[in-house]
Amino acid sequence: MKLSIDDSIQGVPYYPKAALYGADAGWTRLASNENAYAPSPRVIEAMVNALFEVNRYPESELDLKGALALRYGLRSQNFLIGNGSNEMIETALRALKFKGRTGVIVAEPTFAFYRIAAKIYGYDVTSVPLDSFRLDLGRVTERIDERTRVIFLCNPNNPTGTIFSDRAFAAFLKSLPPEILVVVDEAYAEFAEDRLFPRSFTYVDEHPVLVLRTFSKAYGLAGLRIGYAAAEESLVSFIERTKQPFSVNMMALIAAKAALSDERHLGSVLENNRKGRKYFYDAFEALGIEFLPSQANFVLIKVGPDAEALTGRLFEKKILIRWLGAYNLPECVRVTIGTMVENKVFLEALKRLRA
Ligand code: PMP
Repeated sequence: MKLSIDDSIQGVPYYPKAALYGADAGWTRLASNENAYAPSPRVIEAMVNALFEVNRYPESELDLKGALALRYGLRSQNFLIGNGSNEMIETALRALKFKGRTGVIVAEPTFAFYRIAAKIYGYDVTSVPLDSFRLDLGRVTERIDERTRVIFLCNPNNPTGTIFSDRAFAAFLKSLPPEILVVVDEAYAEFAEDRLFPRSFTYVDEHPVLVLRTFSKAYGLAGLRIGYAAAEESLVSFIERTKQPFSVNMMALIAAKAALSDERHLGSVLENNRKGRKYFYDAFEALGIEFLPSQANFVLIKVGPDAEALTGRLFEKKILIRWLGAYNLPECVRVTIGTMVENKVFLEALKRLRA
């Protein structure tokens, strides 16, 4: 190829896109932390009705922002809606560009896209290793310098499922020097049951915090691509300027509004997750497999040096899980909690392969 490519792009690590295989029936998909259940019937009905209007551009995002404001005790002006929470990660990095401040801090291991997006936008990335699979915010503070601009915190953290507490977060925010944005990605927050989990929305007016949430996980709308972010109003208005006007499609907006209104459906998704987590913990204990108690819809387990081969053998049986070699955890895999039937399919196969 004749074109020269800038170092900032050449340095972008290759990120395996969501698997193309496995979409057909017959696969047990436990690799991408998706929701195993179809969305609420209210969502389907609202989308079917809207199908006749796709000749128009999407309606304003104000309705959904209003519903979110009501739910979290903020104002609509505090919210941004994105094409997945991934879009919010990018728009924040674009809006925060600032001469001389090119530092981004991420944990290691964590969700890979923070590093990728930061590199694409020309930032320098510093990583802070986890301590026994947990993020110590004190260690993040130690890595801040005069170039730091954005800090990404994933809570619960993907791929560990661990959290930091409200108290630790509040202390961290208080100690933060000026000119730094903290992006706290709470993609899995709905699944978290620990009462120490941060009340991040209460901090947005006092501190430079952007809270990210998504409809892809607990609400089961991953295929529609819709997420949201909350922050102080003026920051929201600047981030909004860096975003494409219609990045979120009409179906996604309508579906998200309907999904938010169905608390019972959400409740049953969370109940299934709670049962699945417990089922996995009991089974892993019985098998003598080390696992990390999780506040999310996945569990990290340590299966040993043959973790990659095991993942491959499960793949041959049409069972998808994630080997964590790319996260520098070559002896570990991450398994999404699926339906009870899927959980059993995975466990039975695991037992047979380890026998
Ligand atoms: N953040 C984290 C921590 C994730 O694990 C994921 C998806 N795997 C995302 C963000 C992206 O979510 P969305 O579908 O909203 O773009």
